[in-house]
Formats: sequence, structure tokens, C-alpha cells
Amino acid sequence: MSDKSTELIHHPYMPPAGFAAPQPGVFKASTVIFPSVAAMRSREWKDKTGYTYGLHGTPTTYLLEERLCTLEGGAQCVLVPSGLAAIANVGLALLQSGDEVLIPDNAYGPNKALAEGELKAWGVTHQFYDPMDPQDLARRIGNQTRLVWLEAAGSVTLEFPDLRELVRICRSRGVLTALDNTWGAGLAFNPFDLGDGLAVDISAHALTKYPSGGGDVLMGSVVTRDEALHIRLKLTHMRLGLGVGANDVEALLRSLPSLPLRYRAHDQTARALARWCQTRPEFAQVLHPALPGSPGHAHWQALCGSDAGRAAGLFSVLFDPRYSPTQVDAFCDALRLFKLGYSWGGPMSLVVPYELAGMRSTWPAHLARGHLVRFSVGLEAAEDLQADLAQALAAALG
Ligand SMILES: *Cc1c(COP(=O)(O)O)cnc(C)c1O
Repeated sequence: MSDKSTELIHHPYMPPAGFAAPQPGVFKASTVIFPSVAAMRSREWKDKTGYTYGLHGTPTTYLLEERLCTLEGGAQCVLVPSGLAAIANVGLALLQSGDEVLIPDNAYGPNKALAEGELKAWGVTHQFYDPMDPQDLARRIGNQTRLVWLEAAGSVTLEFPDLRELVRICRSRGVLTALDNTWGAGLAFNPFDLGDGLAVDISAHALTKYPSGGGDVLMGSVVTRDEALHIRLKLTHMRLGLGVGANDVEALLRSLPSLPLRYRAHDQTARALARWCQTRPEFAQVLHPALPGSPGHAHWQALCGSDAGRAAGLFSVLFDPRYSPTQVDAFCDALRLFKLGYSWGGPMSLVVPYELAGMRSTWPAHLARGHLVRFSVGLEAAEDLQADLAQALAAALG
């Protein structure tokens, strides 16, 4: 060959097969090479029998998909670039003009925003239902209802619904259910085996949170057990071009084995801190499904049991109404270990003040009036985090 370039591109050396190591190799591709035109024409892109194009799957993405199916108790999985993209993938695959989607009033905010924005503009209507009142859901299901979103526990206020009853109602009315399973992470309960033969149809998961565990990767998954439903999701996934990067998948494959240990540690520390907050006069209410008296505690216990590792590391507090928003903001600013930032699931504890009034259709009767702060408990020592909360209370409110 006259030039090194061709030789370097078409180099003949292949390393010996049989390499084994704890972590799998990482395959990166847009282009996938076929051995013949016949193979190119006949290859099926929708399942894992082969490879057609990087967007449709590589050995690396297949590995993560299969492990996530194991985690959540599902059979098929699609990977998307964020948790919100997982929610959007579900809605865009299953809803068309004239259809209606029902969303719990305490759902992840951007799920509601998608319904109020794009879905509405495309002729898909929505209603927000009270997740703590199954009859409210039953009343709202109509002839146009095609999809019901579920969340357990709910975002920010962490009420735990009677998930079995909500799923039972949807099933009896022939409506598909999609659970945002980010809080449970596949560990607190099995979304495809809720007991009494009940299962959700779809589990969407923000892998950005606990599966990543680093605060450094954005990714989402949509897991199902019904093959036909999976194909509908996969077709939309393909048409929207929702691929994920191999480096991000590698990071997930690296962190997934420690997920149960990390989840349990987050849970233990969060419960200890939430209990301590219950003893403090500054708070009118502490929201954590594992605390007796917290909204939906009995539903959480019935579905998850009460062991460590059966709840996420999140809890919220409602400050006594005598404190102004400025004082509550000052408390958040005075925290040193809890950093101000969105998202959760990483090693660093985070805090966000929320204005609940603007987030809900009505102020729920089970919530005290007061300004809300949500904590995402990281992997720091519980004593240090408790001391941080105590010093910030003293500094801002003392
Ligand atoms: C964070 C989150 C999402 C979205 O995940 P991103 O990867 O940040 O888009 C969806 N649902 C819930 C419950 C979440 O907490």
C-alpha cells in the first residue's frame, strides 16, 4: 500500500478472543458493519438478534438494557437520554389527538408541563388526579383516557399512594398504566409484581438518580413486560432518534452493582434525619413515607415492608407557618454540607426550597400550611448531616 492511511483504517490485527474482566468492554458505533448485502437487508433492528446501527443498539447498550430488566422485573427496555425523555417517549408512543392522559397531582413537575405544553398543543387532553383518593382517579377515567401515570412516592411531597388499588382501577377500565419508578429504583418494590396479580404496564426510570449515583450522568429507561407494547415504544424511540452515548452507558454499568448498597445507605441516613426533624419545633410536618403519620405511610408499609433499603433517601419538611419565605431561604443558604441543586441520587446531599402553592391544583388537606424544603440525602455521615441541619436552623431561625 502506497500510504499508511488505508492500512491504519483496514488494519488486519485482531486481539485474541476470550478476554474476561469484571467490567464489560465498551463498544462505540454509529456505523455497524455487515458481512454481506443479504445480511444488511435481512437484519432486524427491533430486537437483540443483531446490530444495524448505533442508535438501535450495541453490545454495550444491550447489556445495560438486560440488567435494568432484571432490576425492575421487566422483559424489555429502551434507553433514552434522560428521565424526562423516558416520560416523553411513553406519552408520544401511546397518545394521539383526541386521547386523554391522567397524571397524579404530585407528579414530577416536567411530566405535568409536557401535558400542558406539547401534548395539549397536539390535541391530547389531560387531567390531574388526587393520588391519595383512588375514587378520584376512577371518576376521571373516561372514554378518551388511554394512559394513567403513577408515582410512588410522589415528587417533592412524597405521599405514598395505594398503588395496587390505582392499578386495579386502571386495569378494570382497560387503561394502560405507566409508573415513574425513579423513587423506588426497582428496589423498594417490584412494579411488575405488586401482589394480587397486579402489575404496571410500563416502568419509566430516571437512571440519572440512583442507578448513576454520581450526579454526573443523564439517562432514562422505559421497561415493559408486554412485547407488543415494547415495540410501540421502540418504534417511537427510533423515529425520535433518542440514542444514548456509550460513555454514559459505561458509567451506568460501572455503578449498577453498588446500587442496592447505596440505596440502602441513603435510606438509613434519610430516615434517621427525618426522625430527628420530627423532634424539632421549627417544622410543622416531616414528609417521608417510612415515618408513621406521613401521608400514605400504611400504603408504603403494605407494598414495601419496612426494612432498610425499601425507601429512597428523600424527605421534605414543612416549616412552621410563623417562618417567612425569607427565613426559609436563609436556612437553605446557611447549610454547608447540603448543597443547593436539583436532582438527587448522588453522594452529595442536596436541598431545594419549593413553593408548593404554584405546583398543585389545590393545597392537599393532608399537608400542613408552610414553606416546603426537600432534602436529598447523600452518602455523608448521618451525624455530620444532622449537625449541619442544626447549625443552619440556629443560624437562620435561632
Ligand atoms: C429527576 C426525575 C425525572 C427526570 O430525570 P432527568 O434525567 O433529570 O430528566 C423524572 N422523574 C422523577 C420522579 C425524577 O425525580
